[in-house]
Amino acid sequence: MAQHIIPKFDETAFNCPRCGAYANQSWYLGSAYDKERAETYGQTLPKGTIDEFAFSNCTHCNEISVWLRGKKTLIYPKITTRAFDLTEVPNHLADDYEEACLVLADSPKASSALSRRCLQSILREQGFEDKSLNKEIQKAIDSGKLPSHIADSLDAVRSIGNLAAHPTKDTSTGEILPVEPGEAEWNIEILEFLFDFFYIQPAKTRKRKEALIEKLKAAGK
Ligand SMILES: [Zn+2]
Repeated sequence: MAQHIIPKFDETAFNCPRCGAYANQSWYLGSAYDKERAETYGQTLPKGTIDEFAFSNCTHCNEISVWLRGKKTLIYPKITTRAFDLTEVPNHLADDYEEACLVLADSPKASSALSRRCLQSILREQGFEDKSLNKEIQKAIDSGKLPSHIADSLDAVRSIGNLAAHPTKDTSTGEILPVEPGEAEWNIEILEFLFDFFYIQPAKTRKRKEALIEKLKAAGK
């Protein structure tokens, strides 16, 4: 698969937020015209410019995406700005992850609630179920089954999120609670590490094995 280039303000080419294709983008500024006149009489005489926004126009689908000029952020359509391949990740986990990414900028609290719930689902499905997320993380770390960089990151998620000191956060994942600075981003990163370790790498290994078996078969072994 070709590399996914995240849409970025003022760039001339990226994967289009509207159609997903990698395509050249033309940039426009807008002007405003009287809504009623336009709707009633089809008159589109410019009233003035709308400086706050910029518009990227995809040369592939010809659709427009809307950006805030000052903040250089994409405001329409709402898409995730992460480019993580979720093909091998089970749907129920991928859904929570995608939504956590989608709301990250607007609501770190909502994002964290989703990613904590997703984190707990992964740990439970991998056999680390316990009374609370904090204990489940401890179980996963203690198991010795995780590579050290993942164990360290899990430990960081727990301390950044202050899980031990925050009983509700610890036991009722999925609830909307205050977040520490950086917590929502960290939660998403650890999800990517765990997806990679538990789902993506094993799938790669399985495919390599299957390819090898096919080769051996073809060679008459
Ligand atoms: Zn497009």
